[in-house]
Amino acid sequence: MQKVLLHACCAVCCAYPVRLLRDEGYEPIVYFYNPNIYPKEEYEIRLSELIEYSKKEKFELIIENYTPIDFEEISKGLESEPEKGTRCEKCYFLRLNKTAKKAKELNIQNFTTTLSVSPHKIYQKILKAGEFAAQNHNVKYFAYDFKKRDGFKITQQIARENNMYKQTYCGCKYSIRPKI
Ligand code: SF4
Repeated sequence: MQKVLLHACCAVCCAYPVRLLRDEGYEPIVYFYNPNIYPKEEYEIRLSELIEYSKKEKFELIIENYTPIDFEEISKGLESEPEKGTRCEKCYFLRLNKTAKKAKELNIQNFTTTLSVSPHKIYQKILKAGEFAAQNHNVKYFAYDFKKRDGFKITQQIARENNMYKQTYCGCKYSIRPKI
């Protein structure tokens, strides 16, 4: 079975892509590299949910070290950018470039990301970041728009069935919305 390195931002967004890739005959190897997540406690909650889900669904999970400095470097000067703006483009590229590099190291020819499940992200920007990262490391970016064919609805449904933790913000400190 052909492997695909699937970058995952959290368990909720991972649920449907894992199912779809398996249905299409691939073996998803899930890769957790998210230095954007703030604070560390939130990072640990998201990661532990994903570990639980990987055990339940029996997929391999590769966990990268938590290196918030990576995100700090790329977001310098872009702190007040709105969501979907330049900071987010850099954030997608940071994570996808690392995923492409990892795919190359592991001799996995294809990679993709769960980021496209979210209707709050611009698919074309994710695609651009993925394709650029693929070129950098000579691997192939699988251009899945996972929110299509009710992907977002299905992933939310799986999350409810599994009683998963659902975060209230994208991930970085700049995306935390004040409680009203
Ligand atoms: S809002 Fe989300 S995608 Fe944008 S920079 Fe923050 S964590 Fe990254």
